[in-house]
Amino acid sequence: MPEGAIRLPKTGTAKDQLLAQMEAWREDDLRWRDGKVFSLVFFAGDEAAELLKEAYTMFFSENGLNPTAFPSLKRFETEVVGMSAQLLGSSGDVVGNMTSGGTESLLMAVFTAREWARAEKPHIKSPEMVLPVTAHPAFEKAAHYFNVKPVHVPVANDYRADAAAMEAAITPNTILLVGSAPAYPHGVVDPIGELGRIALAHGILLHVDACMGGYMLPFVRRLGYQVPDFDFQVAGVTSISADLHKYGYAAKGASVILYKDAALRRHQLFAYVDWPGGIYASPTMGGTRPGGAIAAAWAIMNYLGEEGYLKIAQRVMDTASAIRVGISAIQGIHILGEPAMSLMAIGSDSLDVYELGDEISARGWHLDRQHFPPSLHLTINFAHVDGADQFLADLAEAVAAVRRPNPRQLGSRLMLSAARLLVRLLPAKWASRLTARASAMMGPKGSGMPKHSAPMYGMIGTLPNRGDLQGVVLDLVEGFTDPGSR
Ligand SMILES: *Cc1c(COP(=O)(O)O)cnc(C)c1O
Repeated sequence: MPEGAIRLPKTGTAKDQLLAQMEAWREDDLRWRDGKVFSLVFFAGDEAAELLKEAYTMFFSENGLNPTAFPSLKRFETEVVGMSAQLLGSSGDVVGNMTSGGTESLLMAVFTAREWARAEKPHIKSPEMVLPVTAHPAFEKAAHYFNVKPVHVPVANDYRADAAAMEAAITPNTILLVGSAPAYPHGVVDPIGELGRIALAHGILLHVDACMGGYMLPFVRRLGYQVPDFDFQVAGVTSISADLHKYGYAAKGASVILYKDAALRRHQLFAYVDWPGGIYASPTMGGTRPGGAIAAAWAIMNYLGEEGYLKIAQRVMDTASAIRVGISAIQGIHILGEPAMSLMAIGSDSLDVYELGDEISARGWHLDRQHFPPSLHLTINFAHVDGADQFLADLAEAVAAVRRPNPRQLGSRLMLSAARLLVRLLPAKWASRLTARASAMMGPKGSGMPKHSAPMYGMIGTLPNRGDLQGVVLDLVEGFTDPGSR
């Protein structure tokens, strides 16, 4: 049914009937509970999940917009920010806010940098930020929303940010440098110390995106693993983002954005005093803020405590190490770079990793496909601690299957070469249509993969016209809200 034909039902439906319907519609959703999904969901065990639900439900109706109305929420947020700041190397001056997620935290970091520059460097009319190509797309979103020019710098051979190349990309308009701890695609930590020195030398800001590492690296370090310096203890670091709803194991809708001091955070805040409805003030992008997400984040941090997070981190790191060792023992595939914790990418010099992706999907596992270079992505968390052996066994089988010539693979390869040839030969308009077809097979991230995506990924990675591809993906995003297309 197209969106336009959908109407609010005239009469209501009984609760049980609705819940049953919703349960039925989950049928095709990713089944993360059996520990075979390596993205999107973080799970710290049944009791933790129960606590999150109870805490969330307890503050289900409360609104974090007005801190004077619900002092409990204000207290939760203050304590969550304080605990996070302390974990991330604050010496006492760090301040921040909770946001709805990593994206909002990064939007705030870029916006704050722009406002800071307007105040401190008013001669800059076209602000720029310098970031490694591996930085999260939320920075692109921020650049797009706030009119800050993103200057992309290739990473070094070890997939870490190339600090010298980033310094060389600084212009008189640069206001902000970006580093990640770790970057999502390959799980490596950028050289934050060097970036800090560069930021200080040029009088600009440095944001560290610790959305993934913020609630993991501090514990990994305490466990004795080598973790490069990345937090507020590094001179030059001016803001850090960290996602509670990832390795903080909080309910979805929780992240923090932290600043080195209140003076910098001041540029983030918004107030409007001329509204007939009264004085309106709000620290972050949203207006109404869900009390449940704030309360659940506070609850899980206090439920686990340092000991709980350390225990979880230990088991996750054991699992990640086992998987790394296991992968290095499988001929033909390898881990890209030196991942600092539990995110990693599987690449190959001899096999088509997208075909490997199809084979491992056929065995019930969900790994995201990456390009530049082609690889499969793993985010290992507590949901996976009992599954390493099974995963490695299935992976070895999948590699063997890719090695064995089979008709489907041959079909894939033929389709791929045909598609590549066509894209080069066809007029631009037709090539776009072909790409549209291919991406329609893919579906937006998280919508579930088709069984055989290898030919399509192979093609999309090599498309000459990225502009076309962007248009096609936007069409897809538009279509995603249309239930008729699913
Ligand atoms: C997940 C992630 C983000 C974005 O966070 P959302 O919660 O998805 O908005 C930003 N940076 C990194 C490194 C991430 O892994």
